[in-house]
Amino acid sequence: MAFAAIHPEAGRIDATLPDLGCGLTWPAVHKTRPRVALRCPECGHGVHAKVSARNLRYFAHDPGRPADCAWLNESLEHHLLKLELATAVRAADWHAELEVRSPDGTWRADVLASSHDGTRRIAWEAQLSPITIDDIQERTERYRSAGVGVCWVSPAAQAPWMGHVPSIRVREPAQGQAWTVVEGPAAFDIDYGAWVAVDTLELTAFVRWASRGQPVVHELRPRYRRVWFGSDHVYRRRRLVWTSSPHIDTETRHEAMRQRQDARKRQREEQQRQAEQQTAAEAEARRQDEQRQREIRAAEEAARRDEQLRKWAADAEQARQRREAEEKLRQAQQRAAEQQRLCQEQDERLAADRWWGELSAAQIHELREAVAEPLWKTHAARPEFDAQGPTPDRAYGIAIYIRQRLHGVLRPSPVSLHRLPPAVWVYVRNAREAQQLAGTGTIDTARIVYFNLPDHEQMSLI
Ligand SMILES: [Zn+2]
Repeated sequence: MAFAAIHPEAGRIDATLPDLGCGLTWPAVHKTRPRVALRCPECGHGVHAKVSARNLRYFAHDPGRPADCAWLNESLEHHLLKLELATAVRAADWHAELEVRSPDGTWRADVLASSHDGTRRIAWEAQLSPITIDDIQERTERYRSAGVGVCWVSPAAQAPWMGHVPSIRVREPAQGQAWTVVEGPAAFDIDYGAWVAVDTLELTAFVRWASRGQPVVHELRPRYRRVWFGSDHVYRRRRLVWTSSPHIDTETRHEAMRQRQDARKRQREEQQRQAEQQTAAEAEARRQDEQRQREIRAAEEAARRDEQLRKWAADAEQARQRREAEEKLRQAQQRAAEQQRLCQEQDERLAADRWWGELSAAQIHELREAVAEPLWKTHAARPEFDAQGPTPDRAYGIAIYIRQRLHGVLRPSPVSLHRLPPAVWVYVRNAREAQQLAGTGTIDTARIVYFNLPDHEQMSLI
């Protein structure tokens, strides 16, 4: 269905206007006999005037219509919206033409609005079918190139291109009420620092304002593209809104304020960064200083340890030398003592030789006999005399055994009495010899047993 048709004499006619836009009347084209040869402005196929059940005037293609006519498949809803837009344009005291093709065919407007002096034109596009953002931007560019403004209009809740091209969302009214614009216009709220969607305008008011050049299409600054939709309590990203210059000025002022705030924030951050750098530098200097102090202390400690080690080594060397000297002294003393012992032994041996040299073998025998006789009586055993004769360990006396036990020593040498085994009897020839032993002071006189044998050998009377 379409609202425009080509009349064979009057040219283009418009079913939405009382005089069809050219001084004719509806009955002059509707149900006439013979038929007026009306043609579709888009495809050139024959059309005829009709009235819908809702009393809407329009043109329908004749049978055998071409399948590719752009207006063939447009819905009633689409047509109603176009009609509504045309009505709003005319209410704004502008000229409105429906279903207009550009002379060169680059665009085809649903409703082309024109100012009376013909200097300004705005295409109002009822875009109900899906279209990509790229395609709708390309079509917008074609209008711009032709010097025609454009506003895309949709009743759909979520048209993806809404806000990417000059556009509004409209709401079909309840019975008897006016169409409203629920998306597209926006006001800048300085307190929120954001654009706020205006959804309370009547379509006719909006079209009137747009025709007067206020509001204008405004491309939001990148940081203001989150637009607040109060009715839905959501932000939506939008690039273009319809607004008035005071709001654009407010956005500009707000942006300047934000930039000043950003600059102050950057300045504060820079100051903070410098302060942190200084703090870090100071900390690093302290750390290096502490490191130097530690190194100095470590060096001092090492020197102290080295000194101590040197001292210990010196002490150890001194101690070693002292021990060596002591050892030498000890060895010398030992040698001297040994020497002295040897001398004393030699002296004792010589003294013993002289001591025993005083006696003849007979006198020795005599003494042994003198010892043996009383022992036989007291012990009922004969004493055994050491066959080795005088030995150093018996003080150069002769050991006397009774039943293999040491009983006494026969005639120890006076200078060797210190060698006597303890608690043994000592037998000597006579009182003089006993006196000689006791005179040394190194023997208990109670241990001395002596006889009365003469010092000199008695001449034998044999
Ligand atoms: Zn057609």
